[in-house]
Amino acid sequence: MSHPVTRETRSQGLNRLRQETFDVLILGGGINGAGVLRDLTLRSKCAGVALKAALVEKHHFASGTSGKNSQLIHGGLRYLKYLEFRLVREALRERSTLLEIAPHLVRPLPFLIPMFDWFSSFFYGTGLWLYDALAGARNIARHRRLSRDEVLVLEPRISSKGLVAGALFFDCAVHSARFVLENIFEAVGNGGVAVNYVESEERVRDNGVWKITLRDTLSGERFETRARKLVDARGPWAESGPLRLVRGSHLIFPRIGSSDHAIAHFDEQGRIIFLIPWGTHRQLTLVGTTDVDHTGSPDDVRISPDEISYLLNIIRRLYPDARNLQPISSYSSLRPLVRDESDSATSTSREHRIWNSPEGILHIAGGKYTTYRSMSEEAADLVTKEIAPALTSVHVTAQTPLPRTPIPQTPEAAVRQAVNSEMAQRLTDALLISSYLGYEHRWTAESLAPYAQLMGSLLGWDARRQREEAEALEQLISVPEAACGD
Ligand SMILES: Cc1cc2nc3c(=O)[nH]c(=O)nc-3n(C[C@H](O)[C@H](O)[C@H](O)COP(=O)(O)OP(=O)(O)OC[C@H]3O[C@@H](n4cnc5c(N)ncnc54)[C@H](O)[C@@H]3O)c2cc1C
Repeated sequence: MSHPVTRETRSQGLNRLRQETFDVLILGGGINGAGVLRDLTLRSKCAGVALKAALVEKHHFASGTSGKNSQLIHGGLRYLKYLEFRLVREALRERSTLLEIAPHLVRPLPFLIPMFDWFSSFFYGTGLWLYDALAGARNIARHRRLSRDEVLVLEPRISSKGLVAGALFFDCAVHSARFVLENIFEAVGNGGVAVNYVESEERVRDNGVWKITLRDTLSGERFETRARKLVDARGPWAESGPLRLVRGSHLIFPRIGSSDHAIAHFDEQGRIIFLIPWGTHRQLTLVGTTDVDHTGSPDDVRISPDEISYLLNIIRRLYPDARNLQPISSYSSLRPLVRDESDSATSTSREHRIWNSPEGILHIAGGKYTTYRSMSEEAADLVTKEIAPALTSVHVTAQTPLPRTPIPQTPEAAVRQAVNSEMAQRLTDALLISSYLGYEHRWTAESLAPYAQLMGSLLGWDARRQREEAEALEQLISVPEAACGD
C-alpha cells in the first residue's frame, strides 16, 4: 500500500475542514487525540459504517507531551508504592498489546536497579515480584535478583560504595513522537482528516451541530468547520477540568553507562529516575525525569537550573567517576494530571478521566502514554454510543498492526521524509518529531543551516525564514550553561 500522506495531504485536509460537516472533531494531536482518531476510523472501516472523523493540532503532531516524555512503554513500577494496582495492571496489559502491534517502535529494554541498602533491596524486590504477577501475559521476561558482584559485572563503573545488591527487570522503549505519527498516518489512510498547524478557537452549538472557529497558525487565516461531536484531547492546554500541570524535564548526554541496560534509580524520596541508552546508535543517555508543579503558560516549558542540578547530582551519585557532565540537549513537557488531594507532584495519581462536560464535549485527560490505546477505545465507545451506535462494540485496535514507516537515520533523510510524507512544516518537525536527530548533537544555527536550506528548497522558504528555523531549533534544545558546571 502506498503511503497515505503526501505533500498535498495538509491542503486537502484544510479544504475538507472548510467544506464538510464532520461526525467527530478531535482537538489536539498528541497520543490521545491520535489514538481516538485511529480508533474511530478503524472501527468505521472494519464495520463498513461511514463515520467522518477529523483532528486538528495547533503545532505539529506529537509536539506536546507525547513527543517529549521518557520514551517508555511501561507498567510504572513506582505506582505500586501508591497502591495503584489497577493502573499498573492496565499499563502492563497495554505494554503487551503494543509490543504485538508495533514491534518496530516498541522494543523490550532491560533495566538494572542498583540497591544501596537492604531495606530497598527487600522493598523493591517485593515490588518487582508483584510487577511480574500483575503483568500476566508473558511476552516479556520476568525480573531477576542480582548479587552485588553481578551488578558490578553488568555495570562496572557504577558506584560500589554502599551497593548491596541489584535487580534486573524488563519494560519497553518507544520512539514516542513517531508512534503518534503512525497512529495519525493509519487514520488518514482509513479516511480520517488530520491537519497540523490548525488551532481551535471559539465554538458555538447550533441545532445540535458545533461551529468551531479554526486558525491556520501558518497563514493566520481563520475559517469555520462543523461537527456533531467534539473531543477535547488538548492535554495540558485543556481549559476545563480538574487538571494539575506538572513539568518533567530530560537531559541528553554522551553515553554515561557501559552496558546496554537502562538504569532505574530511586532517590531518597522514592522518585524513580531513568538513565536510558538512547540515540540512533545508542551513543547517548537520556536522563529524567523531574516532577515540578508548573505555574506558567503551557506554551513556555523549559528545564530550570534546579532541575538540572537535581539530575546531575543523581548521575554523580551513581557514576562518581563521570567527568565533564555537559548535556548535549534537553526537553521538557507537562503532565496533565487529574487533580486530587495529594500535596506532592510525584504522588498525584496517573489515573485517567474521560468525561462529557455539561455542554456535551468529551474530555480525555490524565493517564499515561502507555495506556493511550485503551483510553482511546473507552473514549471512542462513548462517542459512538451517541453518534453511531452500530460502532460501539467494534473493538479492533488491539489486533491491528500499526504501519511501518522507516525511522530516518540522517538529518537530510529526516527532512526529505518529513516534508514529502509526514506533513512537516517546520525544521523542528523533521529533526525533533519525525526523528530525534535534533537532540543528538549540540546543534547551532550555523550547523543546522544546510538542513534549513534543504527544507527551504522543498517548501519555498527565503533566506530569512531558513535562518529563523535553524535558530528556533537551537533555542528549543539548548540547556542553560550556568547550571551545568562540574
Ligand atoms: C516528562 C514526562 C515523561 C513521561 N513519560 C512517560 C513514559 O515514559 N511513559 C508513559 O506511558 N507516559 C509518560 N508520560 C505521560 C504521557 O506522556 C502523557 O500522559 C501523554 O503524552 C499525554 O498525551 P496527550 O495527547 O493527552 O497530550 P499532548 O501530547 O500534550 O497533546 C495535546 C496536544 O494538543 C494540542 N493543542 C493544544 N491546544 C490546542 C488547540 N486549541 N487546538 C488544536 N490543538 C491544540 C497541543 O499542541 C498538543 O500537541 C510522561 C509525561 C511527562 C510530562
